[in-house]
Amino acid sequence: MVVLIFQYEPLLCYHSITMAVLDIALMGNPILRQKAQPVPTDDIKSKQFQQFLDDMIETACQKPEAGYLTAGLAAPQVNKSTRVFLIMKPGATSANPGFNVYINPEIEITTNELVTGFESCLSTPSIGGEVKRYSEIELKYQDRKEISHKEIFSGEFAVYIQHEYDHLEGILWIDKVTDTKTITYC
Ligand SMILES: [Zn+2]
Repeated sequence: MVVLIFQYEPLLCYHSITMAVLDIALMGNPILRQKAQPVPTDDIKSKQFQQFLDDMIETACQKPEAGYLTAGLAAPQVNKSTRVFLIMKPGATSANPGFNVYINPEIEITTNELVTGFESCLSTPSIGGEVKRYSEIELKYQDRKEISHKEIFSGEFAVYIQHEYDHLEGILWIDKVTDTKTITYC
């Protein structure tokens, strides 16, 4: 495990400047097939949980695939079966990454429109395939300051959220691939 001492923008730095890159659970690891447990609200502001969030962010920052920024990371992928995921901030780049934290998310589908896109995942390294997702969703969640939000997402962010939410339900993109012939090395 690599431990980095790292200062970064205040929005991301809540309690700690010491972070660790976490191990990634790969497809076949049973934790990826479990339904993750809610985060007790009383735990959100705890030093331990805030440190875990910092470690998830550092892990997502350190795992760009083929030079691309990781779009999202869910807790089961770092071996913790708990209901939290990260999604890249709009405008983030691999040179200047940034992630938003979504705790205890609940999805409501707000459209019948489906979009097809190519997806890959840190837990299925080097392979990806085509998946259909809803083009718009509403998400209720808590942020890392314990504040509740309700927000509409569309386009690529709606897709990222559905992919990460599936991780909390024990579902991988490969379960939803439109046609196995679209699965390729990437
Ligand atoms: Zn994934």
